[in-house]
Amino acid sequence: MGWHVRNPNLRWPVTLPDSIREQPVVSVGRRAKYLLINLPAGALIVHLGMSGSLRIADPNAAPGKHDHVDLLFTPDTVLRYNDPRRFGSIHWQRNPVMEHPLLRALGPEPLGLEFDGAYLKRQARGRRVGVKNFIMDAHVVVGVGNIYANEALFLSGLRPTARAGRVTRAGYERLATAIRRVLGNAIAMGGTTLRDFVNSDGNPGYFQQSLYVYGRAGEPCRLCATPLKGIRTGQRASVFCPTCQAAGNFGGRDV
Ligand SMILES: [Zn+2]
Repeated sequence: MGWHVRNPNLRWPVTLPDSIREQPVVSVGRRAKYLLINLPAGALIVHLGMSGSLRIADPNAAPGKHDHVDLLFTPDTVLRYNDPRRFGSIHWQRNPVMEHPLLRALGPEPLGLEFDGAYLKRQARGRRVGVKNFIMDAHVVVGVGNIYANEALFLSGLRPTARAGRVTRAGYERLATAIRRVLGNAIAMGGTTLRDFVNSDGNPGYFQQSLYVYGRAGEPCRLCATPLKGIRTGQRASVFCPTCQAAGNFGGRDV
């Protein structure tokens, strides 16, 4: 796989070794928000940051201002990394790839087998942090962004500020199920559109139209009509239903 770095100044400087030029791509994968381009000796770890994108381009087409890196697969196929804000990153890591500092300490994937209520209950032991901040911590579980955390807590009947250590095993079983459901629905509907996100077809996602609480502070709960309440937890907007997500309920409820 060949490469050409036009501007190495992404979030961290891009330095790729010449040795990978001789290596073919064997597969592609993903861990949390990192895309993995696997070669025999290791992998390129690509993060798109806030505004990055990868597109197949014609190598003869003149690169644009923000086309910082080209990955060359064949003489007529180039994967072009574009990133106007340059918060993304590209690293090379020799095997074992998961030992890279960016990947090593990450919690399990929420749709994987390791993730369930028992796992969350174990991780939460003695934690005084709010349950919403807890499930948004990538050391606990990856991939549960603010929108999905709000929605999953609503579905499981837990208030965002409930102390993680006090949520019961049953509460975490409900929460793990809700997280899987919310993420599964979002994926099926093509993601949640915020700002400039487009999916691989170039279209915005449609998940946002089916949200229960996120972005709906002051509006009536879709289940019980109580006005939803908006608060800040850990710098992030949290919205909940004071009735469906009652204070002091650590066991959650089925919705
Ligand atoms: Zn409600």
